[in-house]
Amino acid sequence: MVPSDQLPKNYDFTEVEERWRRTWRDEDNYFDKNSKKPQFVIDTPPPYPTGNFHIGNALNWCYIDFFARYKRMRGFNVMFPQGWDCHGLPTEVKVEEINKITKNDVSREEFRRMCRDLTIKNIEAMRITLRKMAFSTDWSNEYVTMMPKYYSKTQLSFLRMLESGYIYQSEHPVNYCTRCETAIAFAEVAYEDRETTLNFFDFDGVEIATTRPELLAACVAVAVHPGDDRYQKLRGTSMKVPIFGHNVPVVQDDAVDPAFGSGAVMICTFGDKQDVHWWKQHNLALRKAINRQGKMTEIAGRYKGLNTSECRKAIIADMKEKQILNRQENLAQRVGTCWRCKTPIEILSERQWFVKIKPDEIQKAAHQITWFPGHMLLRMENWVEQMEWDWCISRQRIFATPIPVWFCTTCGGMVTPDEKDLPVDPTLVQPKHACKKCGGTSFSGEVDVLDTWMDSSISVLNVTGWDGNGNPPYFPAQIRPQGHDIIRTWAFYTILRSVALTGQKPWDEILVNGMVLGEDGFKMSKSRGNIIVPEEILVKYGADALRQWGAMGAATGSDIMFNWNDVVAASRFQTKMWNITKFALMQLGKGGFDKDEPVTALADRWLLVRLSDTVEQVSAAMEAYQFDVALKAIREFAWDVLADNYIELVKGRLYQQDASRRSACLVLHTAFDALCRMLAPFTPYFAEECYSYLKGESVHKQPWVSFTYDDDAARTEGNLLVQVVAEVRKYKHDAGLALNAPLGKVTIYAPHTVNDEGDTGRTLNADVHWRTDVAKLDRVITDINFNRSVVGKTFRKDAQAFMDAVKALSPEQLEKPPKTIQVKGVEAEIPADAFTPKFSYMEEGAKVDVLTISDIIVTIAKK
Ligand SMILES: [Zn+2]
Ligand SMILES: [Zn+2]
Repeated sequence: MVPSDQLPKNYDFTEVEERWRRTWRDEDNYFDKNSKKPQFVIDTPPPYPTGNFHIGNALNWCYIDFFARYKRMRGFNVMFPQGWDCHGLPTEVKVEEINKITKNDVSREEFRRMCRDLTIKNIEAMRITLRKMAFSTDWSNEYVTMMPKYYSKTQLSFLRMLESGYIYQSEHPVNYCTRCETAIAFAEVAYEDRETTLNFFDFDGVEIATTRPELLAACVAVAVHPGDDRYQKLRGTSMKVPIFGHNVPVVQDDAVDPAFGSGAVMICTFGDKQDVHWWKQHNLALRKAINRQGKMTEIAGRYKGLNTSECRKAIIADMKEKQILNRQENLAQRVGTCWRCKTPIEILSERQWFVKIKPDEIQKAAHQITWFPGHMLLRMENWVEQMEWDWCISRQRIFATPIPVWFCTTCGGMVTPDEKDLPVDPTLVQPKHACKKCGGTSFSGEVDVLDTWMDSSISVLNVTGWDGNGNPPYFPAQIRPQGHDIIRTWAFYTILRSVALTGQKPWDEILVNGMVLGEDGFKMSKSRGNIIVPEEILVKYGADALRQWGAMGAATGSDIMFNWNDVVAASRFQTKMWNITKFALMQLGKGGFDKDEPVTALADRWLLVRLSDTVEQVSAAMEAYQFDVALKAIREFAWDVLADNYIELVKGRLYQQDASRRSACLVLHTAFDALCRMLAPFTPYFAEECYSYLKGESVHKQPWVSFTYDDDAARTEGNLLVQVVAEVRKYKHDAGLALNAPLGKVTIYAPHTVNDEGDTGRTLNADVHWRTDVAKLDRVITDINFNRSVVGKTFRKDAQAFMDAVKALSPEQLEKPPKTIQVKGVEAEIPADAFTPKFSYMEEGAKVDVLTISDIIVTIAKK
């Protein structure tokens, strides 16, 4: 133990946090492959390396670090890996911006190199924030999805799923962003409310309404409801598409709403999901009017080469000229847009690669996982239930994992690489074998690349040691922590891939965190100007305060509003704890306590009972990932129980030199040691600093607190003791007395005997007597308060005479006043509210003040 005079007066978080960051060793957080301890593998989310570790990441990582540290203290062999999910559009777009190029201006290789360089720089910057936040990352298990070591596994998983029939290629309608020129998954479609125009026009004698006249060239049928009498004659016939002149069949379908417009609709390939459904249902032709760049195709005739909005204007103008446009209406509409660039998506039919979605398999695995909080499972269930299309995994981009496939130029057959040759880029190298079908030796490599989720959905397989041979050694992982915004993507895809590749659930548990909202309660965004960056908090209040905010902000799974006040409160708690530390170390530094000596004093036993309760409460909350509950209990114990009650009670005793001092020191040591250990997961720097002064050891190498203490009498009597002291101190305060001012005699009439070892007397600076008999108190009237305005108004110049007459009444009469009274020989009525008697109590002949605390009576005879 370090002498307390060596402790700085104030807690300087900047100095302390920096010092421990330099002292701690990465090796202490490594997962030990040879350990006999039970494993606790965390499938950490690999963030996208934007260069900024944002506040939402910070919250998520706080949760992870709380339980990673807790589980280590609980004796688990913990793996807290750190991954980086590198591929994808945002980096491509950034590289294009920075270098003022488009991806087509340089070679694929050069473009990839630029993306890789930017990513490495960004990862470096984010690693620094992770370290400052004191996350106990296992850096020996870091992975970077763009590196060959990782993406060879992505390619291996692709080949395995191709083999087992989970992956196939096909021409199928997909969501497509014509600005980014790539297919995107349903989960990546964002929806926006927009105003559009509904155009009613004459379609070969029938009125049809459309918001997208530019799709007229892609019209493949007209649909009517089978029960719609207006169109009896049209059944089995065909109609001529205006402007373009091709004939399309009339089909009947129950899904057509006869009440909407004229009850006839046109089916185009493809205006929306419904078109895709009808197109399949009725086996219709495919007319591709829009290409990958969002331009009109050959099929659009003289509109060819226009973009969709130019084409829309031109067709409306032509309809007007031909006098077939009947009318136009404004219409509010939800439009699916690209998550990245907000361009409205088109549904294009393209040759793409798909992963089969088997809803039952996914539901089954999802139910084998324990969800925190439980209701998040419902989100997964709902998402799986509404799945209609398979997962389109091919992208027409560059910075991504290549699809490891070639096509034989002679026969078109597919050729895949040997697994030992992975990773491969089929656009750069040729297969090592001739075509198995035709013996051909000329190939073209697949230029499409994989959706980024194909990389990140095997994160759990990667960290658990998957190499394609049998089940991975550390699989399944124990937990997946992630935000609720990516349940439909990352959680969904991971479950799908784990089941497809191993037949098992990926994790035992999933812990879902909420989003961080700005101080104004809105989602943080540049346009609102409500973004808070972790670095700003780190500079102003330090990592421990930020971490406490993360724990206390909200129940796990709920969205959390950022609030500077919470950070300030966290920092104040540290100041309070620092003062407790200094006091405790000063007392303990004087030495003289023995671990084996029994704790006897009531206040000491009471503190141990309360500590035992707190440990139980905090442990249960940690097991259930309720960090707000855990930290709140710790703070209450430290602040209210230990500092405000206990220390105040035993301060006097600590200045004595006897067994009762030793008892208090032992308790102080026990409580302080436990507090440091319970705080270790939440405030690793602060707990380390305090514990190092106490024990000269690292708190992060200590086991979790296992303290239990049972003493019902101490609980009841101690609560009573604390309550009495608090009330009498309040009495002193209300009476304008200093808390240490001498008080005279205090008698406490309690239901049972209390032996407080003199703590109450020393704390109150009074001669304290605990008694169990009934207080013998005489109530006496010591004064009369007159209501001067009432008395003056009624008696005028005789007011004094009235008051003298009242004062002459007997105590009984004063308590129950008569109706009338003699004033100067005249019988006068006593007005209501004329006076109130003031009572006092006498005990054994001395005047006392009386406090009533539930069934306890306290009498105070001031000096
Ligand atoms: Zn886009
Ligand atoms: Zn061939």
